[in-house]
Amino acid sequence: MSVNNITFKAASVFCGLMLLALVGGAIISGNSGPADSGSMFDPSPTPTPEVKVELNQLTEAEKHVIVDKGTDRAFTGELTDNFEEGKYYCRQCDAELYVSNDKFHSNCGWPSFDQEIPGAVTKVPDADGERTEIICSRCKGHLGHVFYGERFTAKNTRHCVNTTSLVFIPKVSKKKANTAIFAGGCFWGVEYYFLREKGVKSVRSGYTGGSVSRPTYEQVLSKTTGHYEAVEVEFDPKLTNYEKLARLFFEIHDPTQTDGQGPDIGQQYQSVIFFQDENQKEIAQKLIKLLEDKGLNVATKLKPARRFWQAEEYHQRYYEKKGGTPYCHKYTKRF
Ligand SMILES: [Zn+2]
Repeated sequence: MSVNNITFKAASVFCGLMLLALVGGAIISGNSGPADSGSMFDPSPTPTPEVKVELNQLTEAEKHVIVDKGTDRAFTGELTDNFEEGKYYCRQCDAELYVSNDKFHSNCGWPSFDQEIPGAVTKVPDADGERTEIICSRCKGHLGHVFYGERFTAKNTRHCVNTTSLVFIPKVSKKKANTAIFAGGCFWGVEYYFLREKGVKSVRSGYTGGSVSRPTYEQVLSKTTGHYEAVEVEFDPKLTNYEKLARLFFEIHDPTQTDGQGPDIGQQYQSVIFFQDENQKEIAQKLIKLLEDKGLNVATKLKPARRFWQAEEYHQRYYEKKGGTPYCHKYTKRF
């Protein structure tokens, strides 16, 4: 069972005020998922050392499905009829769960897959005593149910999954391929450097990764939204590319700091690359590996992109308006 383990710590916040930091997470028994046992249910996992799984903050509607084991209304989920090439991630913990090749039309009203990514999904008896529930092997979040013998596909298996439990990331995004989303501490300083980079068409400071719609700066500062301070960079692919911008991102902040950035401490100041397609994820993974090979203990998280909320106007082009230079960002050559 997942138990929210909430820790409080004092934070000296230069980008804002002195406030308490709320860090969400759960201690969950480490289990990479059992192999196919031939039984309808997966065997109880052998006890392994406890690992901390970082959980994304959920909206009330997401909690209803993922934590309270509710069900999306049939034919309402936006992923039911999505057949774009890509991957499906756990909304609560970002684990990879399904790939598009295994999705099929069932006309049942929910996304249907005939197999999971090996080990990603665990099958357990449903509380109704009849059905087989499927949960994320990593965070134990509710996904839906699995049914056998319906003869939809050769595998004769249907994972009936709630859209609410999933985040879809395309292999290559037509709409987002020329934008990048980075969180590296106070967005004023990250924006400052990207605005000066060749090929960058625009930079928006904003909030993403959390559960609150139209968040305000004060809400994000209060550490109750799950959002990160982030920038969305739009670029001209004739002049630059995602990899060049991702390299710059790693060179204008400290990707080894785990608890925030510079003097700004708290989850909303942590280093994150929000990838919008699998291509961006692969580039980010490659760069992290390069830095690790150079001995850096990289703390930057890779997370599937969620909706980006633009911050208030006074945060946009902050240093142009206020004068001065960033207090906690500076260029350091790392590649
Ligand atoms: Zn999960």
